[in-house]
Amino acid sequence: MLVDRYGRVATDLRVSLTDRCNLRCTYCMPEEGLAWLPRQDILTDDEVVRLVRIAVQRLGVTEVRFTGGEPLLRRGLVDIVAACARLTPRPELSLTTNAVGLVRVAGALAEAGLDRVNGSLDTIRADRFEALTHRRRLDDVLAGLAAARAAGLEPVKINAVLMRGINDDEAPELLAWALEHGYELRFIEQMPLDAQHGWDRSTMVTADEILASLLSVFSLTPLPDEARGSAPAETWLVNGGPERVGVIASVTRPFCGACDRTRLTAEGEVRNCLFARDESDLRGPMRAGADDEELARRWQTAMAGKAAGHGIDDPGFLQPARPMSAIGG
Ligand code: SAM
Repeated sequence: MLVDRYGRVATDLRVSLTDRCNLRCTYCMPEEGLAWLPRQDILTDDEVVRLVRIAVQRLGVTEVRFTGGEPLLRRGLVDIVAACARLTPRPELSLTTNAVGLVRVAGALAEAGLDRVNGSLDTIRADRFEALTHRRRLDDVLAGLAAARAAGLEPVKINAVLMRGINDDEAPELLAWALEHGYELRFIEQMPLDAQHGWDRSTMVTADEILASLLSVFSLTPLPDEARGSAPAETWLVNGGPERVGVIASVTRPFCGACDRTRLTAEGEVRNCLFARDESDLRGPMRAGADDEELARRWQTAMAGKAAGHGIDDPGFLQPARPMSAIGG
């Protein structure tokens, strides 16, 4: 198992399939993009599947989420999903995506064995979408999300980040839209993971503000803490339920004590935390001939050293060198 020195057990693996993205969300990536990882440094499809197999069969991982960058840009995505779906024991398989182009592959992904999709959408207003992402793709995103639902990749959860002065007035509108379309909306507090290092604690939109804004329109009933488990989102029933809304308050109400995640970057580095400053390379040893047992042992060592918390509020906090897009959100 992947156990750390505080007794937390990681069973949820986030696999980044690429650091590239076709949107330029201002809180994530600069408009001109970034220096992408060289192709030869990126794990091949077979290498990804091998590491997922080791995680599932030797290290107790039960859930695998593919992310990026934008995972739909990975040519082998459907084949990777299909190979992971054939593993025994069969892990839960999900995808975090901006949904651009999802309309074309949602059916194939469902057929390959994908279970669920989380889509990212911060605004349903076309002008704001363009200002926030530097691309005119809102219609494409909406069609992609609808296609995921139609393909049975449910529940389709929507992640939204609110930014002050840009879309922080849109929380009730987003929730009304999500309820109307049968999506489960979760707001994520903006974290210091942007490539531009522009995050500012004093101007970020907090969970309390998001809730206050929602409460001006909806009644919210908190779900009991037991129902949350290791899920990052606190969840409320909307207008008595059964519909729900979630808030992932990574900054103002960190949930590190319940964290069950382990991460693999597109070039095969294990990260034990989004905010870790150290990583452990698996690609090098794998390409040098390491067997499954050695790779599993290296992965366990990497996880054992996980810090107690992300430390965003510590005076000495340093943002990780990698931006979110190169870690895998
Ligand atoms: N491209 C895919 C997508 O858009 O979902 C997957 C990768 S993206 C990095 C994953 C999630 O991270 C998205 O929901 C995005 O909004 C979120 N994200 C990116 N930068 C963030 C930040 N600085 N703070 C909070 N969430 C962030």
